[in-house]
Amino acid sequence: MNGKTIPAPFAYRGFMLDVCRHYMPPENIRKLLDAARELGLNVMHWHLTDDQGWRLEIRKYPQLAEKGSRRGDSCFGHVSPTENNSGFYTQQEIRDLVAYAGERGIGILPEIEIPGHAAALLAAVPGLACRREGGKPWKDRVEVTGGIFPSLVCAGKEETLTFLQDVLDEVTELFPYPAVHIGGDEALKIRWRRCPDCRRRMRELGLASEDALQRWLVLRIGEYLAGKNRKTVVWNDVLAGGQLPPHFIVQHWMGYEEETRAFMQAGGSVICSDTASYYLDYAYGSIDVRKIWRYPAVPEYARGLEDRLAGLECPLWTERISNLSRAAWMLFPRLTAASVKMAGAGETPWEKFLEEVRRKEARVEALGLRGAPEKYWSLSEEDAEQDRLEWERMNRTEETVSQIQQEGKLMALDRAERLMKETGIPEGFARLAGDVMLAEIYGEPDPGDRDGAGTLIRQLAQAADSRLWGRWARLPEEIWLSTMKCYARFIGEHRRSYGRDGFDRGEWTVRQAEARLFRIGELEYELCDENGPEIGLHIPSDAVLEAERLNASLRDARAFLAEYFPAYAKAPAVCESWLLSPVLKEVLPADSRILRFQEAFDLLETDPEDDAALEWVFYVAQGQRAGLDLRMLPEKTSLQRGLKRMLLEGRKPGSAKGRLREPEPWKAVSGK
Ligand SMILES: [Zn+2]
Repeated sequence: MNGKTIPAPFAYRGFMLDVCRHYMPPENIRKLLDAARELGLNVMHWHLTDDQGWRLEIRKYPQLAEKGSRRGDSCFGHVSPTENNSGFYTQQEIRDLVAYAGERGIGILPEIEIPGHAAALLAAVPGLACRREGGKPWKDRVEVTGGIFPSLVCAGKEETLTFLQDVLDEVTELFPYPAVHIGGDEALKIRWRRCPDCRRRMRELGLASEDALQRWLVLRIGEYLAGKNRKTVVWNDVLAGGQLPPHFIVQHWMGYEEETRAFMQAGGSVICSDTASYYLDYAYGSIDVRKIWRYPAVPEYARGLEDRLAGLECPLWTERISNLSRAAWMLFPRLTAASVKMAGAGETPWEKFLEEVRRKEARVEALGLRGAPEKYWSLSEEDAEQDRLEWERMNRTEETVSQIQQEGKLMALDRAERLMKETGIPEGFARLAGDVMLAEIYGEPDPGDRDGAGTLIRQLAQAADSRLWGRWARLPEEIWLSTMKCYARFIGEHRRSYGRDGFDRGEWTVRQAEARLFRIGELEYELCDENGPEIGLHIPSDAVLEAERLNASLRDARAFLAEYFPAYAKAPAVCESWLLSPVLKEVLPADSRILRFQEAFDLLETDPEDDAALEWVFYVAQGQRAGLDLRMLPEKTSLQRGLKRMLLEGRKPGSAKGRLREPEPWKAVSGK
């Protein structure tokens, strides 16, 4: 049922208030603090800065609040475009609120979010943005829609560190709470990859990834805060860049469960804010009281590490919450229900749990805060579905839909750029490819396909998308990565033929992107259907054609097909290649690996006119064959010498199609 019993209350019993997407006047926050006291909570996590608003006065940088807290009409779906979309808290107002909360036994944990969700910050202090290599400067504004934006503070500039330290000096002066939250979620690294300052910083520090650069920045700020006797809280995304020392506190919301668990094992504390149960901006159809009751008090990643679980927190993100009555509706009774768990209710039967929620909820209502009525507390399947659909509908307007599409493209670009790095695509060409997609996203002039870079990025974005949600999603990581490495191989082959980076195999690689062609060990296997299920066998240019490796590849491929594509498990394997050409017998010695490779096939047909071998033997790409001077071909290997002689005689290398004899088709030659 609801997990391991926690007999004692959690040490950290919190709720989070986002005042960036919509501002909330101090008198309303006081009401929520009154309610929090009734519920026995002891922390209000105050999300004060985000893309859509910077909400606290900083004396040293008055422009932050002046510019960063104002936006024009906003479009968060069917929500008033004008209600509470601007405003900030003066330092006096903050002190008063901190005191008010303190009298109620509640500490206020302030959040200054970096490096992402910083559009409002950068709109006010543009000097902290990254520079852009090879493109128009980045432009930031206080954003008017929800979503994820690539607006990160520059991690390469010294000014960023100075600025953050100045801001945190005032923040720690205002908030006596023993920790400061510095965010760290949803930081798309698109700008960092293109910024000379960030790249210099990575070089100097020997950092391998932009995630590691984020971790470095977070560690620097964490050290600074530790010097002020404050712990540092971050969203769990930060762990993607590597482990953090235990004076950090990680707030877990989604993803990276293994990293969170490792952090706890190393002695770190975690606040649980799992989206599945505690995100109170979600529809009641997604999270109702019963669902909160049912969710384990100790989530999977914290099992056996209960003493490292600091507590629970329910975040209230406010894209679609512009006033107190809407906030109350979304918060109560769900925060009330969560508070029962925070108090250490353990495995309470539903009826008893409900009784406790009713009892506490009455005290919240007595404060004038009206939550959702009981019919929403435990929704039937159909009612939940209805509620989710209604919520979806309320979120969608023309403007929010186009923002969601834009965000989707940015995230796809980020994933594709990560994949290019992971699979070894040369940096310069990868950047060129990313810029093609970026120009499309921002409506900049079309830079063209740039030697195939545009085709490359579109296919990789599609493949990365498929890895998350499509055909690739269920397939093993090793096969995914070795298959995706074909892109780097093709770019290398292009360089070998033309002397510069390029990608001209776009017609070929759609099959890899669509998860129809897989690299498994030495060979590639394609799912073909023209004559019923059939396996197309392909020989990558880096295969060494050694018998044991070939047989192992085939065994692994058959096992893979049996598990994931059973319709092809026993399908015949057919290969069409210049490597099967009978002509090769004339030019190769009898013990050649190529001839031994051929022996495993029953020949079906031959094509004596084929000249694909030119590319693989002499590195003459298809586009270079017209007007080729055969006398210039190299003759470094016996294969090159033999084939060159044949070509000069006016003959072609040819190709053939054969069916593989199984099992163990390749025979190792003893003594070789
Ligand atoms: Zn930068």
